Amino acid sequence: MSTSPARLVREFHRAFGLDARETPTEVSPQLAAHRGELLAEEAAEVAEVAVEGPLDDLAQELADVVYVAYGTALVHGIDLDEVIAEIHRANMSKLGPGGEILRREDGKVLKGDHYRAPDVSAVLRRQGWIPDGA
Ligand SMILES: [Mg+2]
Repeated sequence: MSTSPARLVREFHRAFGLDARETPTEVSPQLAAHRGELLAEEAAEVAEVAVEGPLDDLAQELADVVYVAYGTALVHGIDLDEVIAEIHRANMSKLGPGGEILRREDGKVLKGDHYRAPDVSAVLRRQGWIPDGA
């Protein structure tokens, strides 16, 4: 079984008659705002339990964020797995050729000279997105 939530979330959207698109598409401002609100609600729920827990609540709220994020991608016709792969590629390029790691004082990994930024626009164009004005 695929470990991606994409298939599960697609099943949910089908079962409940929610929007699902096959090609990256700008949606109505109302729908876009609604999806943004759903995601903000779930992110706020993560923040509520992030420090005090309990751990099972944190796990649930994190999963809710991912589930809603995949749903929002599906509503917009975005294959989020491919976008995540591109983000991962860019993040891994923060590693120097000799394995050097640059860190900020708080531990955040920084970009080195070999960093190559994600090209999410290219990923979406491969999925069939035609940007405005193109
Ligand atoms: Mg929740």
